[in-house]
Amino acid sequence: MNITLHNTLSGKKEIFTPADPNNVTMYVCGPTVYNRIHIGNARPAVVFDVFVRLLRAVYPKLTYARNITDVDDKINKAAADEGVEISVIANKFAQAYQEDMAALLNTEPDVQPKATEHIPEMVDTINTLIQRGHAYESEGHVLFHVPSMSDYGKLSNRKLDDMIAGARVEVADYKKHPMDFVLWKPSEDGLPGWESPWSYGRPGWHIECTAMINKHLGKTIDIHGGGSDLVFPHHENERAQGMCSCDDEGEYARYWMHNGMININGEKMSKSLGNFITVAELLEQYPGEQLRYALMSAQYRSTLNFTDDLLKQAKVALDRFYTALRELADVTPVAVEDITSLEVTQALADDMNTPVAIAALHELSSKIFKTEDQNEKAVLKGQMLACGELLGLLQQDPEQWFKAGNADEITAEAIEALIEDRKTAKKDKDFARADAIRQELLDAGVEIQDTREGTRWQRV
Ligand SMILES: [Zn+2]
Repeated sequence: MNITLHNTLSGKKEIFTPADPNNVTMYVCGPTVYNRIHIGNARPAVVFDVFVRLLRAVYPKLTYARNITDVDDKINKAAADEGVEISVIANKFAQAYQEDMAALLNTEPDVQPKATEHIPEMVDTINTLIQRGHAYESEGHVLFHVPSMSDYGKLSNRKLDDMIAGARVEVADYKKHPMDFVLWKPSEDGLPGWESPWSYGRPGWHIECTAMINKHLGKTIDIHGGGSDLVFPHHENERAQGMCSCDDEGEYARYWMHNGMININGEKMSKSLGNFITVAELLEQYPGEQLRYALMSAQYRSTLNFTDDLLKQAKVALDRFYTALRELADVTPVAVEDITSLEVTQALADDMNTPVAIAALHELSSKIFKTEDQNEKAVLKGQMLACGELLGLLQQDPEQWFKAGNADEITAEAIEALIEDRKTAKKDKDFARADAIRQELLDAGVEIQDTREGTRWQRV
């Protein structure tokens, strides 16, 4: 099956052709671990997880790496503010990141390299760049010399002269050119540092991704992903380092994919607006699966407007899908033989068109609600589960989904106890009491339904 994707490097939608179909390689820039991630950071994690699931379904092998930036001035500041060691901050938020990822139902990358564990590789890459005339040392710093690369700006589609004109920052006197960027900088005053040929210091941000990609995935990778806010300067600089540190004629990354940003209630997320919502805060109110659905409700390249309404729609849709699956609780699903034949797979293979994939799930549910045919039910259930797996949805027991509540809601135990009381009341022919319990549950947001198998309940 052909997968097409929009390649930022060419600005066009292209057919994805891996260098080696037996080992597809993909890298996504991960978090800088100094705080809890906000919903905007969660979007690339979810959209690229869906892409990873598609690649795994289509190709025999994928090696997917996502890094952890655990050396950064923001981490240094957070540690100084709290009066703790830098590693305390980095470890705490790396752990929190893993928890958020799991709650959003993301699969784990094959490799999660940490920057601090790859300092020798970064020093090597910097040395190579100096030897090849693309970088220079100055006052304990090492800088990449931007004019040394003829097609610098190709990824972000910018011209060097325009960039210089746009650079309003005061140029440090150790730089030869205003656009030259830091590969290494000296550390003092208890900041984290490592010995190097140039100074006791620490790496710049961009070099870590290049060094870790080269180590874990090779000189040329198939796909590099990240948020569109990373195209410039981070990815432009990564590409410059990668292309200039080797003889290979090939591209550093052959396909670049960038997800769009998130607005909150129609407004850009920003510190000044104070509308950063963390994933942890949202998880207190909503199941991770609902957040995941909301994050994939728009095509990944477009801006996603994150609102209460969007979350409500996600709940309604998931309720519908789980209702369909619950109807088929006693049906043994027929396994899907060829996943590429499914509409959901085809929608994802078309530059990851998740809205079309979701529409196909709705169609499947409609068919489930309509059919009386047992064989068709078994086939449809198999398809629904396979599509769900591809999207990272619908993998829990429908009963679990309907019973999951929030911290401020009536507990499942309390609900079960009331249902038992109601059963006793009915047996004793105390129908007024039975009705009162039904109402009490309804007031607490719980709907009950008497079936042949007993009383079923769900939160509404
Ligand atoms: Zn990166």
